[in-house]
Amino acid sequence: MATRRGILLHTCCAVCLEAVFPAIEALGFSARPFFYNPNIHPFREFEKRLRAVEVACDVHKVSLIADREYGLATYLERIAPAGDIRCLECYALRMDRAAREAVSAGIEAFTTTLLVSGHQKHDDVARAGREAAEKHGIEFFYRDWRELMSSGIEAARKRSLYRQQYCGCIWSEYERFGPKKDEGRG
Ligand code: SF4
Repeated sequence: MATRRGILLHTCCAVCLEAVFPAIEALGFSARPFFYNPNIHPFREFEKRLRAVEVACDVHKVSLIADREYGLATYLERIAPAGDIRCLECYALRMDRAAREAVSAGIEAFTTTLLVSGHQKHDDVARAGREAAEKHGIEFFYRDWRELMSSGIEAARKRSLYRQQYCGCIWSEYERFGPKKDEGRG
């Protein structure tokens, strides 16, 4: 039997993992999920998403590499000054760390579940992945997985995995639940 190629799968949440993990394994990769998301706030939300990813990894019988530290300070220091381009910085922060993690784990390529989400700035995610790959001398595996999103939602629902209501940061939480531009004004 041919040896499957290893790939580090940066994992943003359980729903996206449920969509991408089976697909990337079906392509012949041996995927190793990696949770690094200092963009998820507040702490209890961070814990819920990490826990859901752990449960999904148990279901798929794959071991998770996780940075369990709540990285609010790191995140704010790097992202707060970015203003309107905060998502680009947020992707760059996470892709850079994923590339470094793959290199130190001796895995020759990496990718991210962010590529499955229609809510993310897809081309910017891909660009951040490629730039991190070039910087660290590793391959970034790109696929447009967006058509698989509904399968991830369905799998997460079936397994009763936590499904988040906003992207992650405190700004995105406000954009999701705060008053809309034309609301709340007299
Ligand atoms: S909206 Fe999402 S991608 Fe953008 S900065 Fe916030 S957590 Fe990161």
